[in-house]
Parts: sequence; C-alpha cells; structure tokens
Amino acid sequence: MVLSKPAFEQGPIRPPNEANSLLLRLTRNCPWNRCLFCPVYKTKKFSRRSADEVKQDIFSIAEDKEKIKEISKQEGHGGTINRAVVARIHSDYPELLPVAFWQYHGGETVFLQDGDSLQLPVDQLREILLLLKEKFPEIKRITTYARSRTILRRSVEELSRLKEAGLNRVHVGMESGSDAVLEYMKKGVTGDQHLEAGQRIKEAGLSLSEYVLLGLGGKNLWREHALETAKVLNAINPHFIRFRTLAIHSNTPLAEEVEKGNFKPLHDDDVIREEDLLIDSLDGITSYLYSDHILNLLEEISGRFPEEKPRIKKTLERYLSFPQRKKELFRLGRRTGYFRTLTDMDNPSLKEAVEDIYRQVKNSGYSVDDYITRLLRRFI
Ligand code: SF4
Repeated sequence: MVLSKPAFEQGPIRPPNEANSLLLRLTRNCPWNRCLFCPVYKTKKFSRRSADEVKQDIFSIAEDKEKIKEISKQEGHGGTINRAVVARIHSDYPELLPVAFWQYHGGETVFLQDGDSLQLPVDQLREILLLLKEKFPEIKRITTYARSRTILRRSVEELSRLKEAGLNRVHVGMESGSDAVLEYMKKGVTGDQHLEAGQRIKEAGLSLSEYVLLGLGGKNLWREHALETAKVLNAINPHFIRFRTLAIHSNTPLAEEVEKGNFKPLHDDDVIREEDLLIDSLDGITSYLYSDHILNLLEEISGRFPEEKPRIKKTLERYLSFPQRKKELFRLGRRTGYFRTLTDMDNPSLKEAVEDIYRQVKNSGYSVDDYITRLLRRFI
C-alpha cells in the first residue's frame, strides 16, 4: 500500500514524550545547524512558515477530525475514535492517520515543530496558538523546542504572552553546562546563557524541560561535562531534566573528529560513571528526571529530586559494582530488547535468552562491544 500524505506539513523529530501529540510545523529545520553531533537537519535550510500556511494546516486538521468522526459513525462506533476506527483509517484513509492517531490518544497535546519555534514573531505565534485553542478547545498542553539563544531574544513579558495564548512548555537542548564542551561541539551558546534562558522561561510561568546529552564530553572532558552541567541545572532548577546518550551518526562532523582522533567517545560503563557523578552533583533542585530515550543504558534512572536521588544513585552504583561479564550481559540484554531494568536480570527466562545471545556472540568471534556498536546503529 502506498501511504498518502496528510493535507498538512509535519517535520522529522519530536521529543520522546510527545509521541502521542499532534505535530504542527511552524518552522522548517534548524536556524543554527552547526552542532558537531547533530545529524538531523544537516543538509537542509532553515525557513519560517507564514502564519497563513500554519493556519491553513490547522483548518485541514480540523477538517480531518470531522471526517474521522463521520467514518466512526458510519462504521457504527458513534463518533468515538477506537482501535477499530484507527485500523479502518490505516487501511482505507491513510492520509487521515496522523489526526486519527492523535484523536485516539485523547487529542489533548500538541508539539510545535521543528527545532526552534520561538524564531517566529511573538504576535504570529500567539495567533497560531489562539487558533489552535479555538479549533480544539480540548487541548491541554502545547509544547515546543527552543534554543537558549533564541529565548534570550524574547523578554519575560513576551514569553508570558505566549503562555497566556496557550503555550505550556519549552524543551531546551541544553546538552551540557560546560563552556569547553559547548564550544568544542559548536553549540553556539554558553553555560551562562543556558542558565539565563532557563530562568527566563520559568519566570514567564512556562514549564521547562532541559535535555542533557550523556557522553558529550568524551574521554577528555567527561568530568567537566558532568560537574558543569549539574551546576547549571542546580541554578535553573528546571521542571524536567531529560537524559539522552550520545550516539555518533556517520554523517556528522563529530564522526570526522572521531576518525581524526580528536574526540574519544566514552564506553557505556564510562557513561554510567559520568552519569553517576552528574547525579551526585545535582543539589537543591526539585526537578523530575527522566531517562526516556532508547539509547540510554539505564532507563530506570528516573524520579523526583531530591527524594528519589538515593534510589537513583543506588541503581547506578549497583550497575557499576557488577563484574565485567555481568555488565556485558546487561548491556547485551538492554540493546537486544530483553532487559529494560537491572531487575530484569533476575528473571530466569530473560536471562537465559540473553546468555544464549552472549554465547553466540562469543562463538562468532565478535567482542560484545563490537556487537553492541553494530546493534546501536539501528537506533541512530
Ligand atoms: S541547535 Fe539542535 S537541532 Fe540545531 S544543530 Fe544543534 S542540536 Fe541540531
């Protein structure tokens, strides 16, 4: 079956926790596009979509919603969007699938794409937000990515006006709080600017989610990356901290740096040591930490600070205390999808399945590290 496209435009990425949100594209690609590690928009040019174009998309989405309701009624489901309706749309009306999927998940959350929506003039953004709320009064949460440098071009008053029009949360790709790491990675921002931007978002009453990229310091700067990132996070006290782990995409300048020997990536176990130091250094905050990315080795590193910090620390220390073979077994189980948490290793059938793969890897002549590196390429 050839999938027809929806009548509105969508971009390539969203945060992991926005999987069930409507993706509404306000800008295309990233206005900075220079970060050494980032593969997402490298060959693409940034552009702002006009308010009229985006509004037209909102009208199309509203029309799609009505069509889906009609299909549900015709099929005898009384207008509700259940699994049977989504399955019917998937097979017969694929162009309606993004809106059907959104409605199936409640139709209450929206993510504004692409990498830096605050590039749009405040009044234009407000018009879009207000129209969204008018057309879909059931929406409860609207979020977006924004660069810290762009946030600093907006006053607290302007950001508050966006909140008043319906924006709830801003996701910031902080990556690191260390100036040395940020400069090497050409992030185009300093730790102090991240701090000021984060504080400004909070001052405007918006919810703030800061993304940290584990492993970004490599072998030379891992300690500084952990300590300086914790320092900036402590000063901001964001509502959410989200960890992702560095994976080096072959089409990035960072891959060339690795090739030249200028950047030495951390082994999985060293990433956990870095994570341990970072978490140990988080102090005086009330943030909720998530590790909800497929590339993170320990997904269970998640919880509210400060009360859950001891449990989180204990999990990291437990992993680090494992003998080498047990660490390899867990990494293999995690990367092949058998294990999600360390306690999954106590499940005899899961453990036996992973032991089996372990034996096969060893017999094939691969090292566990090489095998895992090949597996991880699937996720990059
Ligand atoms: S600012 Fe974000 S989207 Fe743009 S290049 Fe850097 S990491 Fe990629």
